[in-house]
Amino acid sequence: MRKDLSRLHNVPFDVVIVGGGIHGAALAAAAATAGWRVALLEKGDFAAATSANSLKIVHGGIRYLQHGDFKRMRESIVSRRSMMRLAPHLVKPLRCLMPTYGHGIKGRETMRLAFALYDLIAWDRNHGLPPSGRLPCGTALTREEVGWLVPGIATENLSGGAVWYDAITLDSERLVLEYIKEAVRYGAEVANYVQATDLTLRRGRVEGVVARDLPSGRDLHIPCRAVVNAAGPWLQRLGTGDGGGRQRWALAMNLVVRRKLFDGVAVGLEGYTDFTDQDALIKRGKRLFFFVPWQERYTMIGTTYTPHGGSEGEIVLDGAMVRSMVDDINAIYPPAALSPEDVTFCHAGLLPMKGEAGSGDTVQLDKSSTVVDHGRLDGRQGLLSIKGVKYTTAPDIAVRVVRLLSEGCWLGSPAAARYRPEPPQYHDFGPAISRLGDRYQPIRDHLGKLYGAEWRQVFALLTEEDGEGRDPWLLHEPPLLMAELRYFVRHEMAVTLADVVFRRTNIAAAECPAGEVLTHIARAMATMLCWDDSEIGRQVALVEEVFAPLGR
Ligand SMILES: Cc1cc2nc3c(=O)[nH]c(=O)nc-3n(C[C@H](O)[C@H](O)[C@H](O)COP(=O)(O)OP(=O)(O)OC[C@H]3O[C@@H](n4cnc5c(N)ncnc54)[C@H](O)[C@@H]3O)c2cc1C
Repeated sequence: MRKDLSRLHNVPFDVVIVGGGIHGAALAAAAATAGWRVALLEKGDFAAATSANSLKIVHGGIRYLQHGDFKRMRESIVSRRSMMRLAPHLVKPLRCLMPTYGHGIKGRETMRLAFALYDLIAWDRNHGLPPSGRLPCGTALTREEVGWLVPGIATENLSGGAVWYDAITLDSERLVLEYIKEAVRYGAEVANYVQATDLTLRRGRVEGVVARDLPSGRDLHIPCRAVVNAAGPWLQRLGTGDGGGRQRWALAMNLVVRRKLFDGVAVGLEGYTDFTDQDALIKRGKRLFFFVPWQERYTMIGTTYTPHGGSEGEIVLDGAMVRSMVDDINAIYPPAALSPEDVTFCHAGLLPMKGEAGSGDTVQLDKSSTVVDHGRLDGRQGLLSIKGVKYTTAPDIAVRVVRLLSEGCWLGSPAAARYRPEPPQYHDFGPAISRLGDRYQPIRDHLGKLYGAEWRQVFALLTEEDGEGRDPWLLHEPPLLMAELRYFVRHEMAVTLADVVFRRTNIAAAECPAGEVLTHIARAMATMLCWDDSEIGRQVALVEEVFAPLGR
């Protein structure tokens, strides 16, 4: 996967996709595999915006039971399965627990019944999944069992707990990259740090996108037959929206804390502020907080929603917001006894909100993702936009958009898929494996966990370039091979230190790495990207700036 502007400028495409978050990426893969010539433009790095900031849960839609919304449940179940199939090394089963209270609507018996119904609706959830990815049926726990798993939980009226299985993405950014790579395998052209600045139309029909390569300042004109705007919170900047006037956004936040609060299980606990989900048939009356085990030592907790007053796409976080969320979490689960110093990272992103915010915790998010056909809405033929509300359902939305593109007038049936696999490369890893001796297996395990079936490509770089006896590890803790760094720069379009530590690896996904670690990685990148000392310092500072709201 290489960025090549000459393959974008004045080259005709069937579809240009604006935005390299999960929606743009999943669509690029679906449209390219359908056989269209696809270009995807991302103004920053792939998955650097909302898609990097989720709670990482790939939902099977169990929560839509309370809305009686079986359609949305099925969309989530099918999408979750498709993510688990595409990247089984990145999307794993997640055991979830909800304590139950009393014997009424929130009681154990009702939940048990609801989960049995869910398991029926999700009968095909494991089709095509490897054994390690299979999701068992839900179960019920006794009051005592819940007490063991959630030490110190309020026991008044506690009747037990309901357990179900969802999935978690161990690396939401690399999962976006997996979709983008799938698109590239089918002939798509993709480019990060290229911003779409305008659309060109002729007689009411889209005929191209004007874009700028931000690092070089070069302007590009990309002719095409259709454009899909998947720009997330920047959706309306290209003059697209759902026709309902100015979109309002909610700021959604999670905290990452350096504490393993619960072992091997994600726990949903009710908040204490009143919240009425207007569309729910069964009103719980409170917002749920999820406590999700994250990496070895951390817990992710979220999600809070507040109306966003700033401009589209721009988020400013401060220490007060973090402290207030810590107070909320301590009120919900006093045994956590968190202090702001326990917080190591803060996820924040903008999600589309319905109507105006009222008093208290009344932010109502858009319930479902929307696809707008501008040909029907405002006469601009060949233009679609996606307003996405869930990471999980992006594959389902992509299928919907592909259907609209082919049936809804413009593109007709795609040509036969232009599968362009890399020419097969036969590597003889034997000599390298014997040279590495005992050091081979940890390298193999590390690569398998991160790159799945692609581990060979990374290992090939290690065998090509590491001379006998040289330590292939650039860092042992966190683990990073020099070959991986080369792979990111040469084959995954990484051009900044932030690209590497946030989006090609999980090195900075939970807390700010030590300055020496960042400098060490930046120095190794400098040889490939021709950075001088001041550029190395700037790259390190840009990463550290992300953690500024935490006062570190
Ligand atoms: C705190 C939080 C927790 C969440 N938890 C979950 C969860 O657990 N599970 C779940 O399913 N969902 C969750 N979500 C929702 C989910 O993360 C989002 O719905 C999803 O990531 C949105 O993806 P997107 O592709 O639409 O937008 P984005 O990821 O924002 O992508 C849009 C991209 O378009 C690019 N772009 C914008 N304008 C241009 C332009 N002119 N030219 C080129 N590129 C452009 C941007 O740079 C950006 O990268 C959560 C969200 C938040 C904020």
